[in-house]
Amino acid sequence: MLAYVNGKFLSRDDAKVSVFDHGFLYGDGVYETMRAYRGKIFFVGKHLSRLKQSADAISLTLPLPLDKIGEALNEALTVNKLNEAYIRIQISRGTGEIGLDPALCPAPTMVILTRPFKDYPPELYANGVAVAIVQTRRNHPLALDPAIKGTNFLNNIIAKIESLRTGAYEGIMLNWKGYVAEGTISNIFAVRKGILYTPALETGILEGITRDLVLHLARKEKIPAQEKLMRPKDLTRADECFITNTTVEVLPVTTIDGCPVGSGRPGPITEKLMRAYKNEVQHYV
Ligand code: PMP
Repeated sequence: MLAYVNGKFLSRDDAKVSVFDHGFLYGDGVYETMRAYRGKIFFVGKHLSRLKQSADAISLTLPLPLDKIGEALNEALTVNKLNEAYIRIQISRGTGEIGLDPALCPAPTMVILTRPFKDYPPELYANGVAVAIVQTRRNHPLALDPAIKGTNFLNNIIAKIESLRTGAYEGIMLNWKGYVAEGTISNIFAVRKGILYTPALETGILEGITRDLVLHLARKEKIPAQEKLMRPKDLTRADECFITNTTVEVLPVTTIDGCPVGSGRPGPITEKLMRAYKNEVQHYV
């Protein structure tokens, strides 16, 4: 794998960032994770605009205009001869003296990492996964807004450690008021009596690109959908549940805190949306 570091493609061993990089020192940066299908980066425009929004929210000036960043992403696929790929772009505040003032860093650091996409085990989709509702609360939007896709990931990592202890595949965080927020790397949906529910943005979550597409597909498939403030019981009493993100797409959840969701098998609406998502990917040009 050749990694892009500030305009150069370097081997794994040569791709290095300074120990004075504020991304390393403070988690001061933003990122996006993308997936390429048949050599095309899925919804690259949406990822780039979210990258810009995240950067603006932390007063970070991107090192290149968005179209040039898009070109660098495509180049990263070309030089690595990748069609089905995982792509991560990370832009940190850059190298500077120790201290929190962003002005200490004259130029941001931009890194693009790629790897061939390895399919998730089919059993995960066939049987669904277990999630745990964790004690760790999602950051308050007035402290560190979850809408910012920042590289400061300790909130999610602490929640992940908790969920790993229970053996769950994903940990679901509640917000400061006890409403269901999101997974450590995913958004969550529930189905009850034929209606699809997902936490509203005001809960304090990342506006997932997959979440948005699933809501759009639900409308197309005539599945009634609502974004609302969700209580944990809206998950535990659901007929169906699933999580979404760019890499995993739509993944059924069949157990919450050790109890089966509905029949304990992936449900029909989840399966319909999984198929609709695949169809969208296949027709993406
Ligand atoms: N929430 C969090 C906290 C995430 O890290 C992710 C993964 N980027 C998501 C939701 C899903 O976002 P997307 O569908 O854009 O991948």
